[in-house]
Amino acid sequence: MRFHILTLFPEMVMQGLTTSIIGRAVERGLIEVEAVNIRDYTIEKHKKVDDYPYGGGAGMVMQAQPVYDAWRSVVERIGYSPRTVYLTPQGSTFHQKMAKEFALEEDMILLCGHYEGIDERVLEEIVTDYVSIGDYVLTGGELAAMVVADAVSRMVPGVLSNRESGMTESFEGNLLEYPQYSRPEEWNGKKVPAVLLSGNHAKVDEWRRQQSILRTKERRPDLLERAGLTEKEKAILIIVDKKSGK
Ligand code: SAM
Repeated sequence: MRFHILTLFPEMVMQGLTTSIIGRAVERGLIEVEAVNIRDYTIEKHKKVDDYPYGGGAGMVMQAQPVYDAWRSVVERIGYSPRTVYLTPQGSTFHQKMAKEFALEEDMILLCGHYEGIDERVLEEIVTDYVSIGDYVLTGGELAAMVVADAVSRMVPGVLSNRESGMTESFEGNLLEYPQYSRPEEWNGKKVPAVLLSGNHAKVDEWRRQQSILRTKERRPDLLERAGLTEKEKAILIIVDKKSGK
């Protein structure tokens, strides 16, 4: 997977994506990250990339020309027009399934807006997907692009040292992950649940599945409908509800 991030702040995204697990994946050649500075492509003599919005209103709008030329430079270099994601609060909300789908691509262009956004005409020309990272407004698309690139990278085979950890974590099967514990066995008067020390893998799996379901019910009940629970698991939830007086 090669990420091409079109931005006015290349150092910001490069710093964010060259450390920890993603940084190691870059070193191992599993993913590539390049930041393309949109400002390098402006033909305006003062290197300006924005102007006032037609019709008036607050703020500035990123102009079509530098964005388009920055995008074309990537397309010409890689030899085809790849999936191009504009990070915008007006997009579909990003989720784990989308991360997996994006991870199948060879190349992805992530376009970061700033100020009041980008001239609509260039978006119409180049964008294949409009993606938001949540219902709030950021100052720029860089943090959103980093969120997307991080989540997608983890789904690229080989990036996570233990493939299991990608298979069992939150949102797999529409459940949140079970609680995790590490040494020591007792901390601050709190003991690790005995079943996790039992060495009985079947019991551990059963306990974890139950905890996943209970946690999802408590924190993200909206996910449960699509979690494909067995009749027995649904019955357990009814008992839990009754006990808690719901
Ligand atoms: N005027 C725009 C609007 O009301 O939809 C918001 C522009 S915002 C201040 C500047 C840039 O930040 C956007 O062009 C977009 O790239 C990015 N951005 C802001 N919030 C975002 C979000 N929730 N998800 C993804 N990108 C976001």
